Amino acid sequence: MLEVFDTLHLGRPAAICAGLLRGDQLAILDCGPETVFEHTIQGLRSRGLKPEQVTHVLATHIHLDHNGGAWRWAVEYGATVCVHPNGAAHLADPGKLVASATRVFGADMERLWGTIRPVPPDKLRIVHDGETIAVGPARVQAIETPGHANHHHAYWLEAERTLYAGDVAGVSIAGGPCQPPCPPSDIDLESWKRSLAKMRALQPARIIATHGGLLKDPVTPLADLEHRLDDWAAWVLAQLNAGQNEAQMVPLFEQKVLAELQTAGVTPEILQTYAHGNPADKSVYGLARYWRKFHPERLTAWPKTTP
Ligand SMILES: [Zn+2]
Repeated sequence: MLEVFDTLHLGRPAAICAGLLRGDQLAILDCGPETVFEHTIQGLRSRGLKPEQVTHVLATHIHLDHNGGAWRWAVEYGATVCVHPNGAAHLADPGKLVASATRVFGADMERLWGTIRPVPPDKLRIVHDGETIAVGPARVQAIETPGHANHHHAYWLEAERTLYAGDVAGVSIAGGPCQPPCPPSDIDLESWKRSLAKMRALQPARIIATHGGLLKDPVTPLADLEHRLDDWAAWVLAQLNAGQNEAQMVPLFEQKVLAELQTAGVTPEILQTYAHGNPADKSVYGLARYWRKFHPERLTAWPKTTP
């Protein structure tokens, strides 16, 4: 049975939730950043489990909030880290990943994500779309689901009809609105929608998102997500076409997102978890990049000015 394991990142419930597949062998789906490694070990011990039992880390994608700590499971406990073909090189040599994350998070890198080191090559396993991973008697299938990241897998446990969906099922905290996390640099609406269709076709009974954990049901949050993805993207396009650059858009977009959450009745405490799991400013940059990269023909005001 796949259970939700709350990593309590920086002490905040539901911000980053791993999946824990229990049996005589253990798999952790999206083990989180290195800053939650010790807490995760304590969590295993409190369940009567041992970190030595962790044979696999199944990475949905390589963003640091999801798998920045995978290297420690590989180095200290010999776990095999399974990852999409396009993500493997960045786990083996995280230099570029760290450089690009440093541009985004600056001086906050260490506090948020801790230490980042390579996953040893003999502990990396590249998994392709549809491939099945055996964890003891359990079988987990990788489902290629780009859109948020071009190297994203969701993991499907057909026996229990549970899908661990990483970021492609969005961010929904405490049953609240389902938001698309849209940081640079891979956001692609068309791919994301195809991934949603693929996930729906599986007819999951449960969907687990990294940010927020178990979705309140397997249908309505995905519809909410798709609607909001279109809405946010259209908003960013309209702003670009009004001549606004990303920095100018950020405070307006933050207000828009806050208003959406408040209208839905989200409490101040949970608002902070949304901001933690899915910072609104990042989505402005990711969605603007999407329009510039895939649909420059839609940008009527550009390149009159540059950001
Ligand atoms: Zn991500």
